[in-house]
Amino acid sequence: MMPTMFVSHGSPMIILQDIPARDFLQGVAAQLPKPRAIAVVSAHWLTRSPAVGSAARPEMIYDFGGFDERLFHQQYPAPGVPELAERIADTIANAGLPVALDPRRGYDHGVWVPLKLMYPGADIPVVPIAVQPHYGPAHHMALGRALAGLRNEGVLVLGSGSFTHDLRRYFGHAEDATAPADVVAFSAWMDAKLVAGDTQALLNYRTQAPFAVQNHPTDEHLLPIFTALGAAGEGAKGTSVHSSTDHGVLRMDAYTFA
Ligand code: ZN
Repeated sequence: MMPTMFVSHGSPMIILQDIPARDFLQGVAAQLPKPRAIAVVSAHWLTRSPAVGSAARPEMIYDFGGFDERLFHQQYPAPGVPELAERIADTIANAGLPVALDPRRGYDHGVWVPLKLMYPGADIPVVPIAVQPHYGPAHHMALGRALAGLRNEGVLVLGSGSFTHDLRRYFGHAEDATAPADVVAFSAWMDAKLVAGDTQALLNYRTQAPFAVQNHPTDEHLLPIFTALGAAGEGAKGTSVHSSTDHGVLRMDAYTFA
């Protein structure tokens, strides 16, 4: 059966720069069953309550500034799939969460950056799903639980965020800098709990994990991992499929859940 997955999308420069996480993303599709569609929970679509993109031809969103000009010309022409978006919204509503369809939502870089590396043919339809930064892990786990049936249909539920995300320190470090001790400690704690499927600890990561707030001053980039975990169903465990760091402080880890 299709696993669910979390990937760290990194800086959009991953499209142009050869770093280990890029090699991983370019090779990972060969390790997965080919999805019928991909539902991407993106840390770069932030809404008050759950939202699902239902455009048939989603436009590109270049939601970053100050990067290489070539990034603003990238395309990812995968089609949307309005019918699946409507069904996903229905299942979220049936789980008791208020939800909206957004027929104008395009592909933000949390969607197109990893997908362009993972599925460069852009031939698999995509449904974008929003994150609610004002709600915490439990809400995003519940959102994922509502999506659990998608695995049986061959739909890949993909959380797109960052395993650590302290951008205040990012620009002060060299690309190949060694990870500081707090980044290592936080990541090791998260890894142990994900691999054990310790949902209770994970839901309380902000108070239980070492240096949690330091590594996620705001946690919209971690929240998609809870949706991916929830979508894998009750008792799911994580498997680490990639670990590396970019500029020392940006952990690029990826997990599958089953
Ligand atoms: Zn991001």
